[in-house]
Amino acid sequence: MTTQEPLILAIDTSFDETAIALTAGRRVLVSRIYSQIDAHREWGGVVPSIAKRAHQERFDSVLAAVIRAYTKRYGTAFDPKDPRTSLAGIVSAVAVTKGPGLAIALEVGLLHAQDLAAYWNVPIVAVNHMEGHLVSAFVQNSNGNPQRTAAFPLLGMLVSGAHTELVEWRGFGDQTIIGETVDDAAGEALDKAARMLGYGYPGGAVIERLAEEVENADPYRFPRPMIRSGDLQFSFSGLKTALLYTVKPMDEQQQIEQARLLASSFQEAVIDVLVAKLELAIKKTGICSVAVGGGVFANKRLRKKVRACVARHGGTMYAPAASYLYVDNAAMIGVAAYSHFLNKEYASGAELDRAPRMRL
Ligand code: ZN
Repeated sequence: MTTQEPLILAIDTSFDETAIALTAGRRVLVSRIYSQIDAHREWGGVVPSIAKRAHQERFDSVLAAVIRAYTKRYGTAFDPKDPRTSLAGIVSAVAVTKGPGLAIALEVGLLHAQDLAAYWNVPIVAVNHMEGHLVSAFVQNSNGNPQRTAAFPLLGMLVSGAHTELVEWRGFGDQTIIGETVDDAAGEALDKAARMLGYGYPGGAVIERLAEEVENADPYRFPRPMIRSGDLQFSFSGLKTALLYTVKPMDEQQQIEQARLLASSFQEAVIDVLVAKLELAIKKTGICSVAVGGGVFANKRLRKKVRACVARHGGTMYAPAASYLYVDNAAMIGVAAYSHFLNKEYASGAELDRAPRMRL
């Protein structure tokens, strides 16, 4: 016997990672992610048709790797000819991301989920990808660590390449967006800034490194869009324009000399806006503890500033416990699915249509 909680096989193909995991409650037993970054890099961003093809080509091998790792760890039989048979009678449900994401990429996961659920004769739980990021701070390893429990209500702060959202989170499966971006996502702005400065995709990590090299200096003092708007909406497209107008008159040599200071100033502006809006959300809701998720939170300076802000208000910041939990993964999808599985919120028929613009 490997686990008390029912075993869920979870799938996420919402964007540019082919991700499959086996979870039990909040614990991740196995997680595998095939990243397509190399396939998209030369295009400077993710190309939907390339993503779809890569998901189709990789799905079976990622699934086989997940099942093989599970059987190895828990001493059950592995059938290399048809790995699915190794989990028959062991898996209780299939969880799959329904949206948001790239339509034709989501489709690949949804079709595979239906095949697998039919083969194992188990129900399907359709999961919102952002609910996955929301629970990612409470995802545990196979031993059940970290043991932190979520003391609801919490604020959720989700910042990635496609999303910038503040969430009022009342319990697993029960959340409402209370603030979001009106144009670009913060991660998208960082990617575009990196490109303007002559660096490739993905740009967030590059910007963070350049900023560290100048100790997060902020000589350019770019605007902090909507920081005093009094609401919880974000906007990053004006900031991008401000960078463009600063860089444009520079010759190539100046651009190279100034790249670190430009990157650092840009990052400071993005972080200031994120922290200011979080602080406003704390004041408006009276909720002072926050769970953070999404790829941009891999940024150490952002986490440090958010942690300090939350601490000022007497709260706690919960962040994912492993680096793979910041980026897209299926472990968070399986953990998010768990409460819906317990409530028997199964999906079938048209409920399994892709929902590229699905909201929390
Ligand atoms: Zn994501």
